[in-house]
Amino acid sequence: MKITNNQNNFNGTTNFNGPVQFAGGDIINKTSASKQNEAKYTPEPKWRSPFTLAALSWISVIIGILGLFPAGKILANALSLLKGNVEAVLDFPVQTYSVIFIIFALLFILFFSLRRIAKKQIRVPLILNYAISGYGRRITLEKIHIDECPRCGGKMKYYSKPIEWVDKYYSDGRTKREVTKRIPVLECKRNSEHWYEVDPAEDKVE
Ligand SMILES: [Zn+2]
Repeated sequence: MKITNNQNNFNGTTNFNGPVQFAGGDIINKTSASKQNEAKYTPEPKWRSPFTLAALSWISVIIGILGLFPAGKILANALSLLKGNVEAVLDFPVQTYSVIFIIFALLFILFFSLRRIAKKQIRVPLILNYAISGYGRRITLEKIHIDECPRCGGKMKYYSKPIEWVDKYYSDGRTKREVTKRIPVLECKRNSEHWYEVDPAEDKVE
């Protein structure tokens, strides 16, 4: 008898600094911050919103429940289609209900994310050096004033920087970059290698 089950299979995985093995020739990339001096910034509260943690919890629940109605309608419609009830399906405004459902889903994601920020009491970058802060279990919009770059004196920006990503290589030559981790940083506008990690939980919880 001939034994044919003795070959090894290697699928070409390369792994840099990552705890996870990815198959199929993907490469995990990771970048790390400047360790020398710390860049300094001052948050200025611009708008203290009425959205407390309790309010955000209630709003998320209400949006979730309201979103069940269009979802249920779409599901019922799909079921009658399976049953072969074509007339009922033709009359059903499926686009309208889908749009309503998508709006509810997006609102739910928005308020649930805000709720998470208020619950953790963290600071998250928006655009143009603005931030959302959840300190005191309430959502506050802040403007972030940043000192100049500690290394070169250049202007800096505050944003969510991708620090880990996976480059997927396809057999037809296409590549696709998928960001797997972002962190808030202060980064020099003159040299993007001058960047400093910002602790989103820097201020003590109340
Ligand atoms: Zn710099």
